[in-house]
Amino acid sequence: AAKAGGRSRHQFHSEDLSQRTRDRVTLEADLRRGLSERQFSVHFQPKVALADGRIVGAEALLRWHHPERGPVSPDVFIPVAEDSGLIVAIGAWVLRDACAAAADWNRARAPGDPPLRIAVNLSPRQFLNHDLIGTVTAALARTGCRAEWIELEITERLLLDERGQAGETLDGLRAMGLTLAIDDFGTGHSALSYLTKYPISTLKIDKSFMRDITTRSDQAGVVRAIISMGHSLQLDLVAEGVETKEQACFLREQGCALAQGWLFGRPMPRHDFTALLLARAAVELTPTA
Ligand code: C2E
Ligand code: MG
Ligand code: MG
Ligand code: MG
Repeated sequence: AAKAGGRSRHQFHSEDLSQRTRDRVTLEADLRRGLSERQFSVHFQPKVALADGRIVGAEALLRWHHPERGPVSPDVFIPVAEDSGLIVAIGAWVLRDACAAAADWNRARAPGDPPLRIAVNLSPRQFLNHDLIGTVTAALARTGCRAEWIELEITERLLLDERGQAGETLDGLRAMGLTLAIDDFGTGHSALSYLTKYPISTLKIDKSFMRDITTRSDQAGVVRAIISMGHSLQLDLVAEGVETKEQACFLREQGCALAQGWLFGRPMPRHDFTALLLARAAVELTPTA
């Protein structure tokens, strides 16, 4: 009986697996179709200065609205896009869209206002055997976007992978004037030596640390240590996933200058972000009694 039970469990498991494989294959086909049928869009989430709440930039986040499935989370489709290689084409498209938005917003900026910097997520796959420098150069040229207006978010995963020549590419991108950020900092298998080995400008503190920073002293301690290390290495710090005023206050007190999160704004379509910029500017121009 035990044997039979074991076998049926095994069968069950492999049916599960092949179902998952089928799901992946359909999802990949849907991704291809979605690309040609313009089912994708890029949303923008404000990045703010904790000192005064001013918007200093945004993160570009890919959105997929599937005709039957509805909205599909990037956490579901990005891994499939990475495995299939489709991320190279999708990533180039996101980059162009973000550069176009950055050029638009910065050209409309009041003189004297610091430029907005738009962050774009890159997958390790985009560095592997692909002319990423060429793709970035073309996106900037086509949209009239300056390199200084774009930050590229990479993960520790890329820097720990010995296969690619990520180092050379990162040096090239930095030399062009783009800045580089480590996304989800603190969640990887951090060998911290890479922070001085590569031309990194920014650490984005992963949102998983935020939940308990105001209630658990150990979590607060980890975040404090990351901030202090960032300061010693002269890196900009951005806290991700800030949802409450308490979290924002804690981060500001600890010296974290920048933040993103639902407290300040959800990811939104480009024209909503444009409206937000105009509204905020108007508020700032109104003299307060
Ligand atoms: P990420 O780059 O770490 O992006 C931050 C994620 O946190 C986003 O999820 C954002 O919507 C979410 N978020 C922002 N504020 C809050 C908050 O206050 N609370 C909570 N709980 N979540 C918040 P999203 O948009 O679902 O994206 C998930 C991941 O998918 C991204 O994580 C990124 O790794 C990847 N991704 C998204 N767009 C792209 C893209 O264009 N290219 C690549 N390669 N990856 C992308
Ligand atoms: Mg990111
Ligand atoms: Mg992140
Ligand atoms: Mg993440």
